[in-house]
Amino acid sequence: MARHRNVRGYNYDEDFEEDDMYGHSVEDDYCISPATAAQFIYSKRDRHSSFTEPLEEEEEEYVDEEPDKTKASNLTPLDQARLYSCLDHMREVLGESVSEKVMTDAVLQCQFDVAKALDLVFKQDGNEKAVPTNQDVSTTGRPAKGKSRGLPSVEVQNEVVPKIAKMTVSGKKQTMGFDIPRYVSASAASEVNGQNVPVLSKGQPMDEVLEEPESSRQSPTQGVSSQGSDDLNATPSQGRSAGKSKQKINVKDELEKRQGGKQLLNLVVIGHVDAGKSTLMGHLLYLLGHVNKRTMHKYEQESKKAGKASFAYAWVLDETGEERQRGVTMDVGMTKFETKSKVITLMDAPGHKDFIPNMITGAAQADVAILVVDASRGEFEAGFEAGGQTREHALLVRSLGVTQLAIAVNKMDQVNWQQERFQEVTSKLGHFLKQAGFKDSDVFYIPTSGLSGENLTKASQVPELTSWYKGRCLIDQIDSFKAPQRSVDKPFRFCVSDVFKDQGSGFCVTGKIEAGYVQVGDRMLAMPPNETCTVKGITLHDEAVDWAAAGDHVSLTLTGMDIIKINVGCVFCSPSEPIKACTRFRARVLIFNFDVPVTQGFPVIIHYQTVSEPATIRKLISVLHKSTGEVVKKKPKCLTKGMNAIIELQSQRPIAIELYKEFKELGRFMLRYSGSSIAAGVVTEIKE
Ligand code: GDP
Repeated sequence: MARHRNVRGYNYDEDFEEDDMYGHSVEDDYCISPATAAQFIYSKRDRHSSFTEPLEEEEEEYVDEEPDKTKASNLTPLDQARLYSCLDHMREVLGESVSEKVMTDAVLQCQFDVAKALDLVFKQDGNEKAVPTNQDVSTTGRPAKGKSRGLPSVEVQNEVVPKIAKMTVSGKKQTMGFDIPRYVSASAASEVNGQNVPVLSKGQPMDEVLEEPESSRQSPTQGVSSQGSDDLNATPSQGRSAGKSKQKINVKDELEKRQGGKQLLNLVVIGHVDAGKSTLMGHLLYLLGHVNKRTMHKYEQESKKAGKASFAYAWVLDETGEERQRGVTMDVGMTKFETKSKVITLMDAPGHKDFIPNMITGAAQADVAILVVDASRGEFEAGFEAGGQTREHALLVRSLGVTQLAIAVNKMDQVNWQQERFQEVTSKLGHFLKQAGFKDSDVFYIPTSGLSGENLTKASQVPELTSWYKGRCLIDQIDSFKAPQRSVDKPFRFCVSDVFKDQGSGFCVTGKIEAGYVQVGDRMLAMPPNETCTVKGITLHDEAVDWAAAGDHVSLTLTGMDIIKINVGCVFCSPSEPIKACTRFRARVLIFNFDVPVTQGFPVIIHYQTVSEPATIRKLISVLHKSTGEVVKKKPKCLTKGMNAIIELQSQRPIAIELYKEFKELGRFMLRYSGSSIAAGVVTEIKE
């Protein structure tokens, strides 16, 4: 989103002392970050606008060549489709060595026979070297996300709507995980119920419980810097300097400039289904001017027609027909807005139990969270007690490294803005959140009404509320969250949340840069499959940029690698400092409130960053004392709720992971079983 481009920037270092960084707020941070197999699908609106965008050739690398527009546009729609399909096939064989114009000519001349067209191109190539050129997008009329674009996108739009990207685990790009191993017995599965809140000893923060014992801190040998020296040797020339010549940037200075003094903050909105998350955030976006009156009116009319008038604001974020039809958020909607001192990437996570993996994905990428609870009588209780998602969500985000939390005590209009009800809700929540590992000083409660917009962007005028509430409104609270320190100095790490083929050359991956930075022209290593490629383009919020750094959600256009080899969950890293891919590792875990004893051979799904991978608990190494981390029992027979233990996990396929002590963001994971989160863990030792 172009409007956010030049308003970010901040020297995070100033805000943080050495040990007051992301994930450290409670004593130290030993909570976990998992993630899930998710993807990042651009909304139809995005795609549509890309269709109309003029694209510019990359002058540096290619000789400019006028695309052969007329040929394609003269074809019937069917023939156009055949042409695109042929071009795709040819591109797979020819890579970028031949211009699209030459290929189009050949395809038309050979009447859509790919083999013949390839022959023809090869023959021509023998006589005269085909001039490489950039992809002719207008010939195909298809979008080229991630490509370098000279002109800003000209959106012919009468409506002002926030651009919402979607992350989902349910789509076709999901290629890893979720196939429960065959040996999951039906009886075992049926024994598991939905409620998974860890039992912690009173006042015991979860971080502390997951602290690595001294012994396991000594043992790991395969750190980031020491690991993968083979890979390094195998690709000696593949450093940052490889690829096309480019200026090395001082990323910290550039970040400062780009952000224009504003801090970047990733915010996830969580809470039980129907608590009012989408309505609250949709209304907030509307009040901030991200949705104009005309569009809002349209949503109102349409939602009325669909018999869901009360969902009009939710429709701002709930984009898909199915979400609107069902009235539930399924994917994680991502959009941006600004406060006085911050640029916020907002992620609206689904509240429904069925979509918890999606919620984990959103939360794994978040720095802070807004937990929305429904203050109405009976409703708060339903979300908070057994079967509700309030507890599970709060716990998951804490386990994922989120330490600051704003609680929107929503639908206060339903309870006449009663102070007693507000206090009842906050005291119940406060007690639980403390147990879950949140510091009191990092939790903020705000009475709101998403529907009427009260207390969202300015202090409320409702006398029943102002008589007792003098605190911040929601946007002021978001503005006063502490932004985390970004690991731009660390080796490059980028977790893939979506892979898609774009027009012609190369393919695109989207995801979040967890550490380091990337420049156009960089060589990168993908783990797995341990292969390198070149970054041909970077798109940040729909705009082509030359570089991007830790904390950015970007789309990278890659060349020199087969798309087939890349899955959701792959991690791209710098070839000189690769991440390790393994199938066996040890971890310190905290078992949640889970009724089935966890034994050796127990099947689980590891949710780690964007990966969801079936695995088994290979060994139960030891049970640890929750606070001291001392070994209480070696080789236990089983683990039960609330226990803290060292276990060894064996995944079916390799996953790229980091040791928690070296890379907090990439060292946390979550274990789920039969749709329930059963444990949170941190990686202590990588085996093989
Ligand atoms: P989500 O599932 O948490 O995203 O919840 P939605 O935003 O879809 O809202 C669920 C229902 O609660 C819708 O009918 C909303 O109109 C209603 N709702 C949301 N916020 C409020 C509020 O502040 N007051 C009242 N009375 N209803 C609300």
